[in-house]
Amino acid sequence: MAVLVNQKYELFPTEKQKETFDRWLQYCRQTYNSALLDKERRYKQNKKNYNRYDMQKQLTLDKKKYPILKEMPSQPLQEVFVRLQKAFENFFRNDARYPKQKKYKEYTSMTFPQFGFNKKGNRMAMSFSGNGKLYNTRLGEIDILLHRPLEGTIKQLMIKRQGNRWYAIFCVEGQALPTSLDIHNAIGIDVGINQYAVLSNGLEHENPRFLRKKEKQLKKTQRRLSKRKKGSANDIKQVQRVRQLHEKVGNQRRDFLHKLSYNLTKDYSVIAVENLRIRNMIRNRKLAKSISDAGWGMFRNMLAYKCERNGGILLKVEPKFTSQDCSHCGNRVKKSLSIRTHICPKCGTILDRDHNASRNILQKGLDELLTINGITITVGQGCVRTV
Ligand SMILES: [Zn+2]
Repeated sequence: MAVLVNQKYELFPTEKQKETFDRWLQYCRQTYNSALLDKERRYKQNKKNYNRYDMQKQLTLDKKKYPILKEMPSQPLQEVFVRLQKAFENFFRNDARYPKQKKYKEYTSMTFPQFGFNKKGNRMAMSFSGNGKLYNTRLGEIDILLHRPLEGTIKQLMIKRQGNRWYAIFCVEGQALPTSLDIHNAIGIDVGINQYAVLSNGLEHENPRFLRKKEKQLKKTQRRLSKRKKGSANDIKQVQRVRQLHEKVGNQRRDFLHKLSYNLTKDYSVIAVENLRIRNMIRNRKLAKSISDAGWGMFRNMLAYKCERNGGILLKVEPKFTSQDCSHCGNRVKKSLSIRTHICPKCGTILDRDHNASRNILQKGLDELLTINGITITVGQGCVRTV
Protein backbone atom coordinates (compact mmCIF):
# COMPACT_ATOMS: atom_id res chain seq x y z
CA MET A 1 0.00 0.00 0.00
CA ALA A 2 1.71 3.16 -1.20
CA VAL A 3 0.83 6.47 0.37
CA LEU A 4 2.20 9.95 -0.03
CA VAL A 5 2.93 11.85 3.10
CA ASN A 6 4.41 15.25 3.85
CA GLN A 7 7.26 15.49 6.34
CA LYS A 8 8.40 18.86 7.52
CA TYR A 9 11.83 19.82 8.87
CA GLU A 10 13.29 23.13 9.85
CA LEU A 11 16.14 24.56 7.81
CA PHE A 12 18.89 26.82 9.12
CA PRO A 13 20.17 28.65 6.07
CA THR A 14 22.96 31.23 6.35
CA GLU A 15 21.99 34.89 5.90
CA LYS A 16 23.20 34.73 2.32
CA GLN A 17 21.23 31.55 1.62
CA LYS A 18 18.13 33.13 3.15
CA GLU A 19 18.49 36.15 0.89
CA THR A 20 18.83 33.89 -2.13
CA PHE A 21 15.80 31.78 -1.17
CA ASP A 22 13.81 34.93 -0.70
CA ARG A 23 14.90 36.27 -4.07
CA TRP A 24 13.98 32.98 -5.76
CA LEU A 25 10.55 33.16 -4.17
CA GLN A 26 10.19 36.60 -5.69
CA TYR A 27 11.07 35.28 -9.14
CA CYS A 28 8.47 32.55 -8.67
CA ARG A 29 5.87 35.05 -7.53
CA GLN A 30 6.56 37.40 -10.44
CA THR A 31 6.39 34.49 -12.84
CA TYR A 32 3.05 33.45 -11.31
CA ASN A 33 1.61 36.94 -11.53
CA SER A 34 2.74 37.62 -15.06
CA ALA A 35 1.52 34.23 -16.29
CA LEU A 36 -1.86 35.01 -14.74
CA LEU A 37 -1.94 38.38 -16.51
CA ASP A 38 -0.93 36.79 -19.80
CA LYS A 39 -3.68 34.21 -19.43
CA GLU A 40 -6.32 36.85 -18.77
CA ARG A 41 -5.11 39.05 -21.61
CA ARG A 42 -5.11 36.15 -24.05
CA TYR A 43 -8.60 35.21 -23.03
CA LYS A 44 -9.89 38.77 -23.45
CA GLN A 45 -8.27 39.11 -26.86
CA ASN A 46 -9.44 35.94 -28.53
CA LYS A 47 -11.10 33.69 -25.93
CA LYS A 48 -8.15 31.35 -26.28
CA ASN A 49 -7.03 29.13 -23.49
CA TYR A 50 -3.49 29.84 -22.38
CA ASN A 51 -2.16 26.71 -20.74
CA ARG A 52 0.88 25.52 -18.84
CA TYR A 53 2.85 24.80 -21.98
CA ASP A 54 2.20 28.25 -23.43
CA MET A 55 3.38 29.67 -20.12
CA GLN A 56 6.55 27.62 -20.30
CA LYS A 57 7.27 28.88 -23.79
CA GLN A 58 6.83 32.42 -22.56
CA LEU A 59 9.21 31.71 -19.68
CA THR A 60 11.89 30.60 -22.12
CA LEU A 61 11.51 33.95 -23.91
CA ASP A 62 11.52 35.85 -20.61
CA LYS A 63 14.73 34.16 -19.58
CA LYS A 64 16.43 35.53 -22.69
CA LYS A 65 15.13 38.98 -21.93
CA TYR A 66 15.79 38.85 -18.19
CA PRO A 67 18.89 36.68 -17.64
CA ILE A 68 18.46 37.27 -13.92
CA LEU A 69 15.80 34.54 -13.97
CA LYS A 70 18.57 32.08 -14.79
CA GLU A 71 19.95 32.67 -11.34
CA MET A 72 17.57 30.11 -9.92
CA PRO A 73 17.05 26.44 -10.77
CA SER A 74 14.54 26.11 -13.58
CA GLN A 75 12.28 23.42 -12.12
CA PRO A 76 10.67 25.41 -9.29
CA LEU A 77 10.08 28.23 -11.73
CA GLN A 78 8.24 25.88 -14.08
CA GLU A 79 6.32 24.37 -11.19
CA VAL A 80 4.71 27.78 -10.72
CA PHE A 81 2.53 27.00 -13.75
CA VAL A 82 1.35 23.76 -12.17
CA ARG A 83 0.18 25.84 -9.21
CA LEU A 84 -1.59 28.31 -11.42
CA GLN A 85 -3.28 25.48 -13.28
CA LYS A 86 -4.36 23.95 -9.99
CA ALA A 87 -5.67 27.30 -8.81
CA PHE A 88 -7.87 27.50 -11.91
CA GLU A 89 -9.00 23.90 -11.54
CA ASN A 90 -10.00 24.57 -7.95
CA PHE A 91 -11.84 27.66 -9.05
CA PHE A 92 -13.79 25.81 -11.74
CA ARG A 93 -14.62 23.06 -9.26
CA ASN A 94 -16.04 25.74 -6.94
CA ASP A 95 -13.43 24.99 -4.30
CA ALA A 96 -11.66 28.33 -4.39
CA ARG A 97 -12.01 31.92 -5.42
CA TYR A 98 -10.75 33.22 -8.73
CA PRO A 99 -6.90 33.17 -8.75
CA LYS A 100 -5.48 36.57 -8.00
CA GLN A 101 -2.17 38.38 -8.12
CA LYS A 102 -0.02 37.23 -5.22
CA LYS A 103 1.52 39.68 -2.82
CA TYR A 104 4.87 39.13 -1.08
CA LYS A 105 3.26 37.71 2.03
CA GLU A 106 1.04 35.36 0.09
CA TYR A 107 3.76 33.62 -1.87
CA THR A 108 5.85 31.69 0.60
CA SER A 109 6.94 28.45 -1.00
CA MET A 110 8.61 26.92 -4.02
CA THR A 111 8.59 23.32 -5.11
CA PHE A 112 11.43 21.22 -6.47
CA PRO A 113 9.52 18.45 -8.26
CA GLN A 114 12.57 16.16 -8.31
CA PHE A 115 14.96 15.32 -5.52
CA GLY A 116 18.22 13.47 -5.16
CA PHE A 117 19.79 11.85 -8.19
CA ASN A 118 18.24 11.03 -11.54
CA LYS A 119 18.46 7.66 -13.27
CA LYS A 120 21.76 8.58 -14.91
CA GLY A 121 23.18 9.33 -11.48
CA ASN A 122 23.28 13.11 -11.92
CA ARG A 123 22.58 15.31 -8.95
CA MET A 124 19.29 17.22 -9.15
CA ALA A 125 19.00 20.84 -7.98
CA MET A 126 18.14 19.58 -4.49
CA SER A 127 19.61 16.52 -2.81
CA PHE A 128 21.33 15.41 0.38
CA SER A 129 25.04 15.96 0.75
CA GLY A 130 27.38 13.25 1.97
CA ASN A 131 27.10 14.40 5.57
CA GLY A 132 23.32 14.52 5.75
CA LYS A 133 22.76 18.18 4.98
CA LEU A 134 20.45 19.52 2.32
CA TYR A 135 22.42 20.30 -0.81
CA ASN A 136 21.59 22.78 -3.53
CA THR A 137 23.72 22.91 -6.64
CA ARG A 138 23.93 26.70 -6.44
CA LEU A 139 23.88 27.32 -2.70
CA GLY A 140 25.91 24.42 -1.41
CA GLU A 141 25.08 22.77 1.89
CA ILE A 142 22.12 23.99 3.92
CA ASP A 143 21.73 23.02 7.57
CA ILE A 144 18.66 20.95 8.29
CA LEU A 145 17.36 19.53 11.56
CA LEU A 146 16.17 15.99 10.90
CA HIS A 147 14.24 15.67 14.15
CA ARG A 148 12.57 12.48 12.99
CA PRO A 149 13.58 9.87 10.43
CA LEU A 150 12.74 10.48 6.81
CA GLU A 151 11.53 7.14 5.47
CA GLY A 152 10.46 6.15 1.98
CA THR A 153 11.12 7.58 -1.47
CA ILE A 154 11.29 11.35 -1.72
CA LYS A 155 9.00 12.49 -4.52
CA GLN A 156 9.44 16.23 -4.24
CA LEU A 157 10.65 18.96 -1.96
CA MET A 158 9.00 22.21 -1.02
CA ILE A 159 10.97 25.05 0.53
CA LYS A 160 8.73 27.24 2.65
CA ARG A 161 9.16 30.53 4.45
CA GLN A 162 7.12 31.01 7.63
CA GLY A 163 7.80 34.28 9.37
CA ASN A 164 11.58 34.37 9.67
CA ARG A 165 11.98 30.63 9.57
CA TRP A 166 12.53 28.30 6.66
CA TYR A 167 11.31 24.76 6.29
CA ALA A 168 11.84 21.81 4.00
CA ILE A 169 8.69 19.82 3.35
CA PHE A 170 9.40 16.47 1.75
CA CYS A 171 6.67 14.60 -0.04
CA VAL A 172 7.53 11.01 0.63
CA GLU A 173 6.09 7.84 -0.81
CA GLY A 174 5.88 5.27 1.92
CA GLN A 175 4.63 1.74 2.07
CA ALA A 176 1.91 2.00 4.68
CA LEU A 177 0.08 4.39 6.89
CA PRO A 178 2.03 5.30 9.99
CA THR A 179 1.65 2.62 12.64
CA SER A 180 0.42 5.15 15.15
CA LEU A 181 -2.59 5.92 12.98
CA ASP A 182 -5.70 4.28 14.36
CA ILE A 183 -8.29 4.16 11.59
CA HIS A 184 -10.95 3.06 14.03
CA ASN A 185 -10.54 6.21 16.02
CA ALA A 186 -12.14 8.34 13.32
CA ILE A 187 -14.58 11.21 13.38
CA GLY A 188 -16.48 13.29 10.83
CA ILE A 189 -17.10 16.97 11.52
CA ASP A 190 -19.77 19.19 10.07
CA VAL A 191 -19.46 22.88 10.70
CA GLY A 192 -22.98 24.05 11.34
CA ILE A 193 -24.83 27.27 11.77
CA ASN A 194 -26.56 26.66 15.07
CA GLN A 195 -23.80 24.57 16.54
CA TYR A 196 -20.22 25.36 15.63
CA ALA A 197 -19.21 21.76 15.06
CA VAL A 198 -21.33 18.63 15.03
CA LEU A 199 -19.45 15.32 15.25
CA SER A 200 -20.47 12.05 13.65
CA ASN A 201 -20.79 10.48 17.10
CA GLY A 202 -23.44 13.04 17.98
CA LEU A 203 -21.30 15.32 20.15
CA GLU A 204 -21.80 19.00 19.55
CA HIS A 205 -19.57 21.99 20.13
CA GLU A 206 -21.46 25.17 20.67
CA ASN A 207 -21.03 28.37 18.78
CA PRO A 208 -19.20 30.74 21.07
CA ARG A 209 -21.93 33.06 22.28
CA PHE A 210 -19.50 35.52 23.76
CA LEU A 211 -18.32 36.13 20.23
CA ARG A 212 -21.84 36.80 19.01
CA LYS A 213 -22.25 39.31 21.79
CA LYS A 214 -18.98 41.03 21.02
CA GLU A 215 -19.85 41.14 17.36
CA LYS A 216 -23.11 42.88 18.10
CA GLN A 217 -21.23 45.37 20.21
CA LEU A 218 -18.80 45.89 17.37
CA LYS A 219 -21.61 46.63 14.96
CA LYS A 220 -23.10 49.19 17.31
CA THR A 221 -19.80 50.98 17.78
CA GLN A 222 -19.25 51.02 14.07
CA ARG A 223 -22.68 52.54 13.48
CA ARG A 224 -21.96 55.22 16.03
CA LEU A 225 -18.68 55.86 14.29
CA SER A 226 -20.34 56.58 10.96
CA LYS A 227 -22.40 59.36 12.58
CA ARG A 228 -19.40 61.21 14.02
CA LYS A 229 -17.78 64.15 12.36
CA LYS A 230 -14.68 63.05 10.50
CA GLY A 231 -11.45 64.07 12.18
CA SER A 232 -12.99 65.31 15.42
CA ALA A 233 -11.46 64.27 18.73
CA ASN A 234 -14.44 62.03 19.37
CA ASP A 235 -14.06 60.47 15.97
CA ILE A 236 -10.44 59.52 16.58
CA LYS A 237 -11.35 58.00 19.95
CA GLN A 238 -14.13 56.02 18.36
CA VAL A 239 -11.90 54.71 15.58
CA GLN A 240 -9.48 53.47 18.21
CA ARG A 241 -12.26 51.75 20.10
CA VAL A 242 -13.48 49.95 17.02
CA ARG A 243 -9.98 48.85 16.20
CA GLN A 244 -9.44 47.50 19.68
CA LEU A 245 -12.72 45.68 19.67
CA HIS A 246 -11.93 44.15 16.29
CA GLU A 247 -8.65 42.88 17.61
CA LYS A 248 -10.24 41.49 20.72
CA VAL A 249 -12.96 39.63 18.83
CA GLY A 250 -10.34 38.21 16.46
CA ASN A 251 -8.18 37.03 19.34
CA GLN A 252 -11.06 35.39 21.13
CA ARG A 253 -12.20 33.61 18.02
CA ARG A 254 -8.69 32.32 17.39
CA ASP A 255 -8.48 31.20 20.98
CA PHE A 256 -11.74 29.27 20.74
CA LEU A 257 -10.66 27.58 17.53
CA HIS A 258 -7.25 26.67 18.96
CA LYS A 259 -8.84 24.97 21.94
CA LEU A 260 -11.43 23.13 19.88
CA SER A 261 -8.94 21.90 17.27
CA TYR A 262 -6.51 20.90 20.01
CA ASN A 263 -9.14 18.79 21.75
CA LEU A 264 -10.35 17.17 18.56
CA THR A 265 -6.89 16.21 17.31
CA LYS A 266 -6.04 14.88 20.76
CA ASP A 267 -9.13 12.66 20.83
CA TYR A 268 -9.23 11.42 17.24
CA SER A 269 -6.51 10.27 14.87
CA VAL A 270 -8.58 10.36 11.67
CA ILE A 271 -10.65 13.48 11.07
CA ALA A 272 -12.82 14.05 8.03
CA VAL A 273 -14.08 17.50 7.06
CA GLU A 274 -15.71 19.02 4.03
CA ASN A 275 -13.75 20.63 1.29
CA LEU A 276 -14.97 24.19 1.26
CA ARG A 277 -17.15 25.57 -1.48
CA ILE A 278 -16.52 29.26 -1.09
CA ARG A 279 -18.44 30.43 -4.13
CA ASN A 280 -21.65 28.66 -3.22
CA MET A 281 -21.51 30.02 0.26
CA ILE A 282 -21.04 33.58 -0.77
CA ARG A 283 -24.13 33.39 -2.90
CA ASN A 284 -26.08 33.08 0.29
CA ARG A 285 -25.07 36.26 2.09
CA LYS A 286 -26.42 35.44 5.50
CA LEU A 287 -24.79 32.05 5.51
CA ALA A 288 -21.55 33.54 4.23
CA LYS A 289 -21.53 35.92 7.16
CA SER A 290 -22.01 33.24 9.71
CA ILE A 291 -19.38 31.07 8.08
CA SER A 292 -16.78 33.78 7.82
CA ASP A 293 -17.55 34.69 11.42
CA ALA A 294 -16.91 31.17 12.40
CA GLY A 295 -13.45 31.26 10.81
CA TRP A 296 -13.93 27.95 9.07
CA GLY A 297 -10.79 28.26 6.96
CA MET A 298 -8.73 29.08 10.01
CA PHE A 299 -10.24 26.14 11.87
CA ARG A 300 -9.46 23.73 9.05
CA ASN A 301 -5.85 24.90 8.89
CA MET A 302 -5.47 24.42 12.61
CA LEU A 303 -6.92 20.93 12.35
CA ALA A 304 -4.51 20.13 9.52
CA TYR A 305 -1.32 21.03 11.30
CA LYS A 306 -2.41 19.72 14.68
CA CYS A 307 -3.35 16.40 13.09
CA GLU A 308 0.06 16.27 11.49
CA ARG A 309 1.77 17.06 14.76
CA ASN A 310 -0.08 14.26 16.53
CA GLY A 311 0.59 11.71 13.82
CA GLY A 312 -3.04 11.78 12.72
CA ILE A 313 -4.64 12.49 9.40
CA LEU A 314 -7.06 15.10 8.10
CA LEU A 315 -9.22 14.03 5.18
CA LYS A 316 -11.03 16.59 3.06
CA VAL A 317 -14.09 15.20 1.31
CA GLU A 318 -16.30 16.49 -1.48
CA PRO A 319 -19.23 18.33 0.11
CA LYS A 320 -21.66 17.08 -2.54
CA PHE A 321 -24.90 15.75 -1.00
CA THR A 322 -23.44 15.34 2.48
CA SER A 323 -26.48 17.03 3.99
CA GLN A 324 -28.99 15.40 1.61
CA ASP A 325 -28.06 11.73 1.68
CA CYS A 326 -29.28 9.47 4.44
CA SER A 327 -26.26 8.40 6.49
CA HIS A 328 -27.97 5.11 7.30
CA CYS A 329 -29.24 3.82 3.96
CA GLY A 330 -27.84 6.24 1.39
CA ASN A 331 -31.27 7.37 0.18
CA ARG A 332 -31.20 10.97 -1.09
CA VAL A 333 -33.58 13.19 0.85
CA LYS A 334 -33.71 16.64 -0.72
CA LYS A 335 -34.12 19.44 1.79
CA SER A 336 -33.72 23.19 1.79
CA LEU A 337 -31.39 24.96 4.16
CA SER A 338 -34.20 25.83 6.54
CA ILE A 339 -35.06 22.19 7.22
CA ARG A 340 -32.99 21.27 10.24
CA THR A 341 -33.94 17.62 10.62
CA HIS A 342 -33.15 14.72 8.36
CA ILE A 343 -36.08 12.34 8.04
CA CYS A 344 -35.57 9.38 5.77
CA PRO A 345 -38.84 8.01 4.35
CA LYS A 346 -37.05 4.86 3.22
CA CYS A 347 -35.41 3.58 6.41
CA GLY A 348 -37.04 5.80 8.99
CA THR A 349 -33.83 7.39 10.27
CA ILE A 350 -34.39 10.69 12.03
CA LEU A 351 -31.33 12.77 12.79
CA ASP A 352 -30.35 16.37 13.27
CA ARG A 353 -29.41 17.70 9.85
CA ASP A 354 -25.80 18.47 10.78
CA HIS A 355 -25.37 15.19 12.62
CA ASN A 356 -26.52 13.30 9.55
CA ALA A 357 -24.07 15.36 7.45
CA SER A 358 -21.15 14.66 9.76
CA ARG A 359 -21.83 10.93 9.54
CA ASN A 360 -21.75 11.15 5.74
CA ILE A 361 -18.54 13.16 5.90
CA LEU A 362 -16.91 10.46 8.02
CA GLN A 363 -18.05 7.73 5.63
CA LYS A 364 -16.71 9.61 2.63
CA GLY A 365 -13.42 10.17 4.41
CA LEU A 366 -13.05 6.50 5.27
CA ASP A 367 -13.89 5.52 1.70
CA GLU A 368 -11.10 7.79 0.54
CA LEU A 369 -8.69 6.33 3.04
CA LEU A 370 -9.40 2.84 1.81
CA THR A 371 -9.13 3.67 -1.86
CA ILE A 372 -5.69 5.18 -1.38
CA ASN A 373 -4.29 1.76 -2.14
CA GLY A 374 -2.21 1.98 -5.30
CA ILE A 375 -3.48 5.41 -6.27
CA THR A 376 -1.07 8.28 -6.49
CA ILE A 377 -2.37 11.35 -4.79
CA THR A 378 -1.02 14.71 -5.79
CA VAL A 379 0.45 16.53 -2.90
CA GLY A 380 1.33 20.16 -3.10
CA GLN A 381 -0.63 23.34 -2.76
CA GLY A 382 -3.91 21.52 -2.74
CA CYS A 383 -2.63 18.80 -0.47
CA VAL A 384 -5.50 16.47 0.24
CA ARG A 385 -3.90 14.49 2.98
CA THR A 386 -1.63 15.40 5.79
CA VAL A 387 -0.07 12.74 7.94
ZN1 LIG B 1 -32.41 6.16 5.18
